[in-house]
Amino acid sequence: MGRLRRHSAPLLLLPLLLGTGPVLAADSPPYSSAPAPQSLRNPGKGDAEPIGGYANGCVRGAGALPADGPGFQVMNLSRHRNYGHPLLLAYLKALAGEVEREGLGILSVGDMSMPRGGRMPTGHASHQMGLDADIWFALDLGRMPVADREREDFATMVDTRAQRVNSNFGPAQARLVKLAASAPTVTRIFVNPAIKLALCEGETGDKTWLRKVRPWFGHAAHLHVRLACPPDAKQCETQEPPPDGDGCGEELLSWFQPPPPVTSPPAPPKPPPPPPAACLVLYGEPD
Ligand SMILES: [Zn+2]
Repeated sequence: MGRLRRHSAPLLLLPLLLGTGPVLAADSPPYSSAPAPQSLRNPGKGDAEPIGGYANGCVRGAGALPADGPGFQVMNLSRHRNYGHPLLLAYLKALAGEVEREGLGILSVGDMSMPRGGRMPTGHASHQMGLDADIWFALDLGRMPVADREREDFATMVDTRAQRVNSNFGPAQARLVKLAASAPTVTRIFVNPAIKLALCEGETGDKTWLRKVRPWFGHAAHLHVRLACPPDAKQCETQEPPPDGDGCGEELLSWFQPPPPVTSPPAPPKPPPPPPAACLVLYGEPD
């Protein structure tokens, strides 16, 4: 999957294939009498377990990241998307601690998962099993009143016309990505290609950590962190690891080449697949 060149599949389909980006699921048909996951307000009872895949799954036994903690704040709390597997909560708290210790600013956490995971009606194809989290690149927001956090207009780090980072992207942002990628539980971090390029050019030492940093559409104002399936999670579908190498070469450069001319209209987006049966069971349990 990671070896896919940018133009080797219809662009509209790629976000669905890779489990990131916008999703057209708002009108997806009901698959059972179970409630839709976005209507549920409490995590499912039982041991924490991610079920299914990043782009079609759910999570049992998730926890909520508190609105505020040392070094972090959660944005858009009204969405109820601040839930995750305990490993994700621990990861974010540890990362916030490092960011605070290094004086980089405050970590503003965006969407994670809904209380029982599942497909969100807007905004993401992935984030379904409590192992994904968005983090805004802006580290200088200060601690904001909860009411002021209902927003998405955070500073972009990319000059899209020039296809390069702009002056908002500095050493603190580069350090944030490196810290975020350094945890062994992380399998991928999605950032805009211009940001990956800046990181590749800025790293003068060992580039090994850049392997996990994957170029993707958007992701100019936030990074998207994805944890690997926990080793004991038998119902969690592991994603192929990123290709070998730091990803700073040909694959990255392909993102900056002009797209080939369109010869036929793209295929219409397919409806998302039905959720795994174990997720329907989870959604049907008392809220
Ligand atoms: Zn994301």
